[in-house]
Amino acid sequence: MTNTEAGAELELCPCPGGPGVDVLRPRLVPLGGPRAMTVRRTLPHRDRSFVGAWCFLDHYGPDDVARTGGMDVAPHPHTGLQTVSWLFDGQIEHRDSAGVHALVRPGEVNLMTGGAGIAHSEVSTPATRFLHGVQLWIVLPHEHRAAARDFQHWPVPSTVLADGVRARTFIGELAGRTSPLHTFTPLLGAELLLDRDVSWAVPVRPDFEHALLIDAGAARVAGQPLTAGELGILDSGPSAVVIEAAEPTRALLLGGVPFAEEVVMWWNFIGADHDEIAAARADWEQHADRFGEVAGYTGGTARLPAPALPGVRLRSRGRIRRDS
Ligand code: MN
Repeated sequence: MTNTEAGAELELCPCPGGPGVDVLRPRLVPLGGPRAMTVRRTLPHRDRSFVGAWCFLDHYGPDDVARTGGMDVAPHPHTGLQTVSWLFDGQIEHRDSAGVHALVRPGEVNLMTGGAGIAHSEVSTPATRFLHGVQLWIVLPHEHRAAARDFQHWPVPSTVLADGVRARTFIGELAGRTSPLHTFTPLLGAELLLDRDVSWAVPVRPDFEHALLIDAGAARVAGQPLTAGELGILDSGPSAVVIEAAEPTRALLLGGVPFAEEVVMWWNFIGADHDEIAAARADWEQHADRFGEVAGYTGGTARLPAPALPGVRLRSRGRIRRDS
């Protein structure tokens, strides 16, 4: 996924939730291109950059590919982050400059590390009728910001965690189910399928903050009602979080230790400061080895050009935005 919002001011009301729950409503962002798919973005938000080290959340579909053209994101770079692709429906063909060519399929997690630099393309396959899923980014801590290119794949088993609750835990650990994927900070990512009239006290790490994204259906988290597309955020502290579904609901539960560092996020790059971002941008434009080349992409655009940097120095952001 590529970020077409570089330099844009984020316009979205922070919506006060119930006690201890902040509700972020998504904004619509076109991915770019002549028949651009539109995604619903909840992170980063004007007032909130991170939940744990989760720093970017795009939610899309179900998207009728015959009508929208689906996903066709030409080779583009990343630094200082990991990407997670998670599908509910459809397939995406992934190619990257680490030489990986992989299919992203529902129920299978793909975690790409683009620390010092990676490039990749993402295209929905011809067999895809509906495209439906999320893309998430994970900010890397300073000591691992230059991590080597990597790609981890795992078909995630669906397990029953409680009466009327099934889950696929693709990152971290939930109710005794553990993902083997490596991240650089403690994180949780799980898809939940909740039956009608289920109330589940989810055991969680008290040192984690959490967020619940509703994909379909509706649920309450810690008493706060959420509808499809909304992200409810809870601070760290409790050792259990109550999720109640009045109808069949699919949701993503995310969590992590609050990320205390400040970073600059601009376009598809994360760096310590403006100068690191400017260097990454120049390296991409000059085809530097740090990003490598993506082989086999056959779309109309050979690679996405970086947008122009703004005329002022980019400012770093922390977990809670102070300058909003
Ligand atoms: Mn990307």
